[in-house]
Amino acid sequence: MANNKSPPDRYALVGHPVEHSRSPLIHTVFARQTGHRLTYELIDAEPAAFETALRGFAAAGGKGLNVTLPHKEAAFALCTEHSATATAAGAVNTISIVEGGLLGDNTDGIGFIRDVTVNLRQDLAGARVVVLGAGGAARGIVGPLLNEEPAELTIANRTKERADEIVARFKSTRLLARPFAELADQAPFDVIINATSAGLKGETPPFPASLVGPRSFCYDLAYGARDTPFVAWARSHAAARAVHGWGMLVEQAAESFAIWRGVRPDTKPLLKQVPR
Ligand code: NAP
Repeated sequence: MANNKSPPDRYALVGHPVEHSRSPLIHTVFARQTGHRLTYELIDAEPAAFETALRGFAAAGGKGLNVTLPHKEAAFALCTEHSATATAAGAVNTISIVEGGLLGDNTDGIGFIRDVTVNLRQDLAGARVVVLGAGGAARGIVGPLLNEEPAELTIANRTKERADEIVARFKSTRLLARPFAELADQAPFDVIINATSAGLKGETPPFPASLVGPRSFCYDLAYGARDTPFVAWARSHAAARAVHGWGMLVEQAAESFAIWRGVRPDTKPLLKQVPR
């Protein structure tokens, strides 16, 4: 850890958009709790400016970055080394900046599984699960989801090819890709996970109502102080339970903090701050 005379270590979240992010608040709470001196900034960079933003932050002495939409796959390509989780996903949400290199990791999956199975006590083993969306976040959660041994894991995406890429990457007989249009033929799912970014614009894609049954557990990776559009949609179709992704955000941040600082903070105080 740096001594009190040296400037605090710098971390940041890079993405587009980022102004809505609660990550600076979360990392500030973790730093206070663990007695670490650090700053955590927001860097808004469109895709064309992503590499320059990343390299500029590293050149200025930054120690680590979180990466959010739409850059997780681009971040994977720019890292010089990857953890096994990042390699499986082909997507990076946590970068450690070290002498001569960028170490890429992915904490989305572990954060998601911890929130669902530990905080929310939702069992995934044997469940029929659908992930809506096939972007960087979906890539991060598919491997850890498969480890929970669902009966079936469907990836459905507006652009079917991106769902096909995920299925090809993980090579599991439980995993299949479908376009949204084919979901209407399916029986209700036990677990429905929204990993699209449509909610950022206040929208819910036209998912068929038949996805949801009275026993469905619905989880939105997006989070908000109030119900997200997907959570409101799931409740309006009488889902057994519908929750937004605040807990995943806190848990994935704790894993990133542990990678950077060598100590995993206690997430309970932050989990209580936002009702779900
Ligand atoms: P991304 O890589 O940009 O992917 C976006 C995904 O959303 C793609 O599958 C895209 O489909 C789909 N999409 C966007 N607008 C859509 C629309 N109008 N209709 C249908 N599909 C649409 O983003 P990401 O990094 O995966 O993030 C996805 C979401 O997860 C975001 O809301 C993000 O904030 C959230 N997230 C939360 C956490 C957390 O800790 N709680 C962590 C990671 C991500 P196409 O492929 O067809 O374009």
